[in-house]
Amino acid sequence: MKSESGAIETLAIHAGEPKPRIGGAVVMPIFQSSTYEYLGEADYHDVRYIRLNNNPNQIALCKKIAAIENTEAALVAGSGMAAISATLMTVLSSGDHFITLDCLYSGTHELTTKILPGYGISHSFVNGNDHASWERALKPNTKAIYVETLTNPLLQVADLVRIVEFARANKLVSLIDNTFASPINYRPADHGFDIVLESCTKYLNGHDDLVAGAVAGDAERIRPIKHKLDILGGTLDPHACFLLDRGLKTLAVRVRHQNASALRIATFLSEHAAVKHVNYPGLPSHKQHERAAELFAGFGGMISFEIKGGAESADRMFERLRIPALAVSLGGVESLIIRPAAAIHPNLSAEQRDASGISDGLIRLSVGLEATIDLIADLEQALAG
Ligand code: PLP
Repeated sequence: MKSESGAIETLAIHAGEPKPRIGGAVVMPIFQSSTYEYLGEADYHDVRYIRLNNNPNQIALCKKIAAIENTEAALVAGSGMAAISATLMTVLSSGDHFITLDCLYSGTHELTTKILPGYGISHSFVNGNDHASWERALKPNTKAIYVETLTNPLLQVADLVRIVEFARANKLVSLIDNTFASPINYRPADHGFDIVLESCTKYLNGHDDLVAGAVAGDAERIRPIKHKLDILGGTLDPHACFLLDRGLKTLAVRVRHQNASALRIATFLSEHAAVKHVNYPGLPSHKQHERAAELFAGFGGMISFEIKGGAESADRMFERLRIPALAVSLGGVESLIIRPAAAIHPNLSAEQRDASGISDGLIRLSVGLEATIDLIADLEQALAG
């Protein structure tokens, strides 16, 4: 049974909040207590202790996230990477193999290539649009397929419908990192994915002021992940839970504004003489535009583009920009801009970056909530300089 019903805007505000309200408080109070009276809990993981992910703030937030993801259960974690690593280390054991995308987020890429092999977990990288490459990667010990809704920073859209079909046909657990889309634009569980991961540091919180992660899915899948996280220790503290809960309440209005603003900015950039190429799934020129239009409620707030003159021109443009901050991360109210080759993938060789399509001059823009006309005017003056 799914957790709660209602429109996502309403769930983001009210789901999970205790009834009756605690002391009448309209906003869930912060429970800044690490431990609670022992009530005779038989299982260690049920003992009320802050690391065991059962503080009242953690419980309320888990219920809220399950409601907005439309899953039976959810778990909050101390970061997106805590959620991803605890999940993969639960779903996969020594001797297992999994299939994943060749253009993973850099942290997940490092987990896959440098950490999991040390625990006997192997992988094959595939192209999310090349079905034959998934079939070729299948092995008798393949247990899971792990994808991202929109890839970073090229914003490609894998064939998500066929990936779910492929997972079911081959009895694989399907996992998806939905950070770039957020549940406002795409709810993976509704499309058959078994486990949904979010870096809540990005859109779900939306204010660039905390680090958090979440995992959502059926209760029987989430329970062992919670037990693993309880021991690995990737807990979210109550104050961060409070901030994330507050951020979540405005998720729908923020993301919808960012969708609309990013589409206008991407269109402006695609028509600008100094711009060579724009990657944005909302543009008809995007290779998977039709698929994105079918699958997503909105195209998101992330754009990447290349300007004439490569990395040097990009860095000169950054110096002239007044509104976007030059910073990694994304999904917040402040617009952020970065050159991924320099800041996010510096450990990849130039050949590896070229192979993945991340040129030195590629620019990634996370569109915030500033007025779209101000952002366009700022980009225009910076590109003209
Ligand atoms: N997944 C994606 C797509 C990301 O962009 C990031 C961070 O940038 C993460 C996961 C990791 O999230 P966190 O920084 O919250 O650990």
